[in-house]
Amino acid sequence: MPERPDHYKVLGVGKNASADEIKKAYRKLARRYHPDRNPGDKQAEERFKEISLAHDVLSDADKRREYDRGGSFGGLGGGFDPSAFTQNFGGAGGGFGDMLSNIFGGQRAAGARAEPRAREARGRDLETEVSLSFAEAVHGAQVALTVPTSTPCPTCSGTGARPGTSPKVCPVCHGRGVEGQNQGIFSINQPCSRCHGSGTIIEHPCPTCEGSGQQRSNRRLRVNIPAGVREGSRIKLSGKGDPGVRGVPPGDLYVITRVADSPIFKWSGENLEVEVPLTIPEVLRGAVVEVPTLSGTKRLRVPAGTRHGTVQRLRGEGPPRLGGKGNGDLRYKFVIDVPASLSAEQDEAVERLSKVMDGNPRAKLFAAAGTGNMAGES
Ligand SMILES: [Zn+2]
Ligand SMILES: [Zn+2]
Repeated sequence: MPERPDHYKVLGVGKNASADEIKKAYRKLARRYHPDRNPGDKQAEERFKEISLAHDVLSDADKRREYDRGGSFGGLGGGFDPSAFTQNFGGAGGGFGDMLSNIFGGQRAAGARAEPRAREARGRDLETEVSLSFAEAVHGAQVALTVPTSTPCPTCSGTGARPGTSPKVCPVCHGRGVEGQNQGIFSINQPCSRCHGSGTIIEHPCPTCEGSGQQRSNRRLRVNIPAGVREGSRIKLSGKGDPGVRGVPPGDLYVITRVADSPIFKWSGENLEVEVPLTIPEVLRGAVVEVPTLSGTKRLRVPAGTRHGTVQRLRGEGPPRLGGKGNGDLRYKFVIDVPASLSAEQDEAVERLSKVMDGNPRAKLFAAAGTGNMAGES
């Protein structure tokens, strides 16, 4: 059987506390430990359940008298027979918490209680898109998003119960939020069908929030987009999704990045490639050319005789690698800029050039075939 809790200690009030003092202490603590305020925090969740149970007992004059006499301490005890659940485990340990710890990897009962929640017992995951410039994607950016959220309902302080009433510990799951079905040695746990995983039920819903305990609103969220994201990157923001129903943790928010193309930098794996046009004299005689980088410009030495398509790399000067260390490269691909037409002066110069560069580079095509210089016709 679970240990008998000290409800007065849980609420931080004396044994002779008035109903009003108990109510005040409960409201203050419930607000502080409400799961919506502490998404994913199992300890806060556990505290919230303890607080709810303590209030459930101490706010009801009959239950309080019974508790003070050393009797039932609330929902976890009443009408629940742990032996029905432990028999498949040879009776070892005993108690529902131990059964859960057996299934979920040997945690002690106290720690295991909140663990086995199925995926559905939380708010929905949300997905939203952000549009980024190429520079924002490469260097990282902070963007503002508007996402749905919730704050504790001001009327009921987030409990979901009509003022003057309080949530009850769920009679189906006894506050655990899950239902287990034993089938031989297999056990299937799913969110409690009665309380949807919150562990408590509302008998008299708050008129403002209709029992949800939440006030829905939109929240502006500032999101840091890490440097190096691409078109279609998914950024997960844990606990920033839909808040879900009362008492369950919120879902996650996925931010999908839409990245504008750069007219200059093209992705090539984890590197960026830039086409660098060279004039015919630069290709022939070599040159020092200025090229763009992600943070300014750099000078590259182009050797004389550089061929069309030659690539020079600036190692580690590319975009940050996502999820890994370091940066990709910047790759500069040299291409010969062939003019579509020549001026009279250029034509004259090329005429002179062709007279001094008069070799036949195609001769080797025929020499290799070994059939003279008109292959197939001899
Ligand atoms: Zn339940
Ligand atoms: Zn309310």
